[in-house]
Parts: sequence; structure tokens; C-alpha cells
Amino acid sequence: MDLGKLIQERIRDVDDYPKPGVLFKDITPLLADHVAFAGVVDTIVNHHGRGTVDKIVGIEARGFILAAPVAYHFGAGFVPVRKKGKLPSRTHEETYDLEYGTETIEIHVDAFEPGDRVLIVDDVLATGGTARAAAELVRRGGGEVVGLSVLLELTFLHGRDKLGNLDVHSLVTV
Ligand code: IMP
Repeated sequence: MDLGKLIQERIRDVDDYPKPGVLFKDITPLLADHVAFAGVVDTIVNHHGRGTVDKIVGIEARGFILAAPVAYHFGAGFVPVRKKGKLPSRTHEETYDLEYGTETIEIHVDAFEPGDRVLIVDDVLATGGTARAAAELVRRGGGEVVGLSVLLELTFLHGRDKLGNLDVHSLVTV
């Protein structure tokens, strides 16, 4: 079966999660399908090419699940971006707006060597606030953001528009 079609079939719509009126895209059925999961990881690695990236940044929490095997197959290191208060050593932090309220994410100040080429990986690009904040954290840490790869892009929320000229690669779009 065509990988794009398989990915779409394995992403489940959940109504009213995490709050009434929200249609949540649940990727757990995709992760449980070894063909779909491996296909996603391979597609991200092939899109950029081994040797083009030094570090993969994964965004807590579902981003970790995709970013860690991508890092392994790239031969790159893995760097976590986490919600405030979860990283043990010194951090940079960025705060951004959510639909209701704000979110703060952090990265360790010594996560990168100067000039490290960094690919950010997450599951879903929605409004783009999370990705933009993560890219800013990478820059503040001395890394060079070479791109963002997401499994699913919700194009009707225009997240890309927040990301300037960042190379955004999405496997499927809704
Ligand atoms: P944004 O900041 O609005 O682009 O939201 C993206 C972040 O929220 C990502 O880290 C996603 O994990 C999460 N997210 C937003 N919407 C969904 C969804 O429908 N399914 C899964 N994760 C989502």
C-alpha cells in the first residue's frame, strides 16, 4: 500500500479531546503498525539524507518517539526540548501563546556544539507556535536549524506562516 495512504489510515480522529470542540489527531495506531512507523522514520531520513545533520531535536512528548529513531538512522545525536521544569541542568526557555494561555519549553544551554546542523522533529504542526519556539531555542543554543520534519501538518491553521523561510517537510497534510 502507498505509504501516504497507510499513514492517513493509521491516524485516528478523536472528537472533543483534550477539550470540547477540538478534533485531536491521534498517532498511536500509526506507532503500533511497524510498517507505518518504519516508513515514517525512513522517509524523514531519506528526505534530508544521512550526513547532512549533526543533531535531531525532538519536542516533548510525541516528538521524542519519532525523533529518537530518526537520530539513530541519521547517525546524529538526539536533543530533547521539554516543558518547563523537566530538564535537570541549565536551560534556555521560550514562552509562546496557546489558544488559551501560554506554554514554556526549554533546552539545555550546552546541547549543541557551535554551528551544529539541527533538524527539529515533531508529530504535528498545528498553529506553529511550538515549532517556532523550538527553532528559537536551537538558535539561542548556537545550533543552525536546517529544517523541521513533521508527520502531520494541519494546513488550515497556517503554522508554516509563523516559520519564516524554515524548510518544513510534512509527510501528510490535512
Ligand atoms: P502548535 O504549537 O499549535 O503547532 O501545536 C503543535 C504541538 O501540539 C505539537 O507538539 C503536537 O504534539 C501538539 N498537537 C497539536 N494538535 C495536535 C493533534 O491534533 N494531535 C497531536 N498533537 C497535537
